[in-house]
Amino acid sequence: MNVSTTTGLICTPPENRQNPSLLSLVIPMYNEKDGLDVLFGAIEALRIHLGVSIEVVCIDDGSADGTFEALTQRQEPYIRAFRLSRNFGKEVALSAGLDMCKGDVVVPIDADLQEPPDTIPRMLEEWRKGHDVVFAIRRTREHDTKAKRLSAGLFYKFFNMISESKIPENAGDFRMMDRAVVDVIRSMPERNRFMKGLLSWPGFSTASVYFDRPERHTGDSKWKPLGLVKLAIDGLTSFSIVPLRVASICGAAVSTMAFFFALYVVAKHLLVGDPVQGYASMITVIAFLGGMQLMALGVLGEYVGRIYIESKRRPLYIISQVHEKAER
Ligand code: UDP
Ligand code: MG
Repeated sequence: MNVSTTTGLICTPPENRQNPSLLSLVIPMYNEKDGLDVLFGAIEALRIHLGVSIEVVCIDDGSADGTFEALTQRQEPYIRAFRLSRNFGKEVALSAGLDMCKGDVVVPIDADLQEPPDTIPRMLEEWRKGHDVVFAIRRTREHDTKAKRLSAGLFYKFFNMISESKIPENAGDFRMMDRAVVDVIRSMPERNRFMKGLLSWPGFSTASVYFDRPERHTGDSKWKPLGLVKLAIDGLTSFSIVPLRVASICGAAVSTMAFFFALYVVAKHLLVGDPVQGYASMITVIAFLGGMQLMALGVLGEYVGRIYIESKRRPLYIISQVHEKAER
């Protein structure tokens, strides 16, 4: 049960946990039609193994390959499909899924089975022990390129250095969350959805299980390198204002140095009578400072842009079609 107070929330996850009455899988899908058979085969196996009721909330993120139509033709009674009016991106699709799901425990999972559903029984074990968030951590990144591994490693280190809420390294969106945690995440109003950060922000009692990440079973990754850079900048600027502080600190450091250098030049001129010289050094300093100023403006601009986007308060997503079987 979640209750809002003037400045916070009272969220108390259940204490005695046996089986959840409903487990929600939330799956963002973008052009995943060809993989649906394999995906639902794995989910059916999971359902039988777990012996708990499940619902599969599929968010079709504006696919062009008929993913939604294929979903509506499937027989599984636990499929709830929602079509977004266009491609909003995985982060927004996942937010829509968290809004739509009804389970006591919720697991966001990719459609490509790169996050194997057979990890879920181990996650459920941890939830039963009283952990409200169970991370699934990738044991290795052997299928990734060296560049992706290195950049991911650097990103996690840098993010955790400057952000107050930490994100566990090598944990994606794949995790099990108690309803209480999901409700906290849903109460966050921001338009900028850096899900890894948002999902970790509430805290609560956490545990981890480990899994090996296989290759995609069909199709290609939807991420392009530039998309990942954008995601990284989004993440850093929505969870920390340290970059702004760094700009101020650099400014203060450079002006202090400039002040002492000025004293030195004046003193040298008065004492030694040295004519002031140094065209080259002057140009270097001007160019350096010009660059610094532009960079600081750029950082400031990132934050102002974010305020602008938030202030418009547009809806985060639009669901244009719903398909679910009658209440079970
Ligand atoms: N996805 C989405 N919208 C997008 C891009 C991706 O809903 O604009 C979904 C995709 O269908 C998949 C999940 O997000 O279920 C992860 O995408 P992908 O496998 O391409 O990412 P990767 O595994 O390479 O990080
Ligand atoms: Mg994938």
